Amino acid sequence: ERTIQRIAAGEVVERPASVVKELVENSLDAGASRVAVSVEAGGTEGIRVRDDGVGIPEDQLEAAVAEHATSKIADIDDLEAGVGTLGFRGEALYTVGAVSRLTVRSRPSDAEAGAEITVEGGDVGAVRPAGCPTGTTVEVEDLFYNTPARKKFLKRVTTEFDHVNTVVTGYALANPEVAVSLEHDGRETFATEGNGDLRSAVLAVYGREVAESMVAVDWEPDPSAAGGDNPVKRVSGLVSHPETTRSARDYLATYVNDRYVTAGALREAVLEAYGGQLAPDRYPFAVLFVEVPPDEVDVNVHPRKLEVRFDREAGVRAAVESAVEAALLDHGL
Ligand code: ADP
Ligand code: MG
Repeated sequence: ERTIQRIAAGEVVERPASVVKELVENSLDAGASRVAVSVEAGGTEGIRVRDDGVGIPEDQLEAAVAEHATSKIADIDDLEAGVGTLGFRGEALYTVGAVSRLTVRSRPSDAEAGAEITVEGGDVGAVRPAGCPTGTTVEVEDLFYNTPARKKFLKRVTTEFDHVNTVVTGYALANPEVAVSLEHDGRETFATEGNGDLRSAVLAVYGREVAESMVAVDWEPDPSAAGGDNPVKRVSGLVSHPETTRSARDYLATYVNDRYVTAGALREAVLEAYGGQLAPDRYPFAVLFVEVPPDEVDVNVHPRKLEVRFDREAGVRAAVESAVEAALLDHGL
């Protein structure tokens, strides 16, 4: 049974960044106003996510690391609505615990003391008292220590860290009201203020030059336009000045219904909007939130991946392109 559990886990937990994604989602689900992520050696040696969220009562710690552990409502409608739903239901901690040494330490605000539980390669230890502040800290050490085949697939530390950075950046930009920080081998990569301002989150993550070059996007379909029925309800966010670019597309962050997604159609639409203004092989920065009715988007292309597909892709493209074009025009760009 252990073996089956490990194999299943290996398919779900691809790399350190997948663990970080699940832990950060749990912290956000817990209503945290601060989420501090720190990793060692790109996350291959250690991952720690600390939050000040609601915490886990001592008598529920064991359940939290068990299979199908979710304390969250997960009815079919919830899953269908899809984009709003985070993670694989009730299995993240269980799965991570199967392929690492996992410690969950927590204290709800109304508890006098904290408690912790450790799982080692699927072996669940006893709940012990632990001194800790309000909230939850999850530590993952030696990821894949007991699944050597999976461990072999890990890339260089810098590559694994890039993936972690992309994930944490994605959540930091989508949740500017939460103070999100990232540390690698004891050095701070970035820390957002959590003051609710998107531009200030961009400043923390990408620096001053980029933050100052960003122009606001805020677009809604014209209700009187021919057809009237647009697959997009709203496009908002920030995009950079056409001269503030990088040589990689990694800085085009797109969100559908507040969930970080990769969608070629969205990226291409953003680039189209810049027309010929971009130098060859240069890409702008964008943090773009696209709101669509849930039935317009298919999030189940691959349950563990971030890909989405749109029923009316051409319409979505057109909306995003118009939105970005309008923002650039507004600023004389
Ligand atoms: P899911 O998030 O799908 O419910 P997980 O395995 O990720 O499943 O987490 C299991 C349960 O553990 C959650 O439902 C929640 O009750 C609890 N939990 C996990 N992480 C946290 C956290 N950071 N703060 C509070 N509760 C948490
Ligand atoms: Mg979860």
